[in-house]
Amino acid sequence: MSAVSAAELLDAWEAGWDRDPLRRGLTLLATARRTTPAAVAEVPVARRDRALLDFRAALFGTVIDAVSRCPRCETEVEVVFDQRELTVAAGETRDMVTVRDGHREVCVRMPTSADLAAVLDAGVPAPEEALVRRCAPAGEPVPSAALVAETWVAADPLVDPQVGVGCPGCGTSWEEPFDIVAYLWAELDAWGRRTLLEVHELARAYGWTEAQTLALSPWRRQCYLGMAGT
Ligand SMILES: [Zn+2]
Repeated sequence: MSAVSAAELLDAWEAGWDRDPLRRGLTLLATARRTTPAAVAEVPVARRDRALLDFRAALFGTVIDAVSRCPRCETEVEVVFDQRELTVAAGETRDMVTVRDGHREVCVRMPTSADLAAVLDAGVPAPEEALVRRCAPAGEPVPSAALVAETWVAADPLVDPQVGVGCPGCGTSWEEPFDIVAYLWAELDAWGRRTLLEVHELARAYGWTEAQTLALSPWRRQCYLGMAGT
């Protein structure tokens, strides 16, 4: 598959800007796979996130540069790591896991975006339990939500990726959750705003349309912006 174009990325940005994080994740995955969000709703979220990490690597590289806050002294700590550390540890996502609940074994599905959407949209008071009920076989006693969540994470750390952080001020160590959808969305948002500004400047200087400007490589666009004196 050829690389996603600047025009396709702008379409994704526009489609997701007023959506919740779950729908943004689906929009991003649909863009990466050149399909519709509905067509990827049944993909397990850990597999979605692995695909989004690959998508991000092609767009923006593999270095993550984020900020965390020390839970003890509240110092802001820069967190820089290579996202490949997450995928190397994670391996492949399965569709099902076996939960050992006392003497019995229960086959439970890995949660998908459709499962999360159903639970979140229903606004139930105990969403974790509702999610596990959806993914467990019908007509059998359902294992506890904590046990199932533990099994999901053990099967694939991308279900809930954590990054180790240390505070240079007081020496405290903690684990920070990493959310690829939020991180990639923030990057896409910054890129979209920058790109529209470039389209605007080049339209003003040369009268080019958005499509004409987006068809240029980023490098050539920068050359024209330089010559236009913007
Ligand atoms: Zn600290």
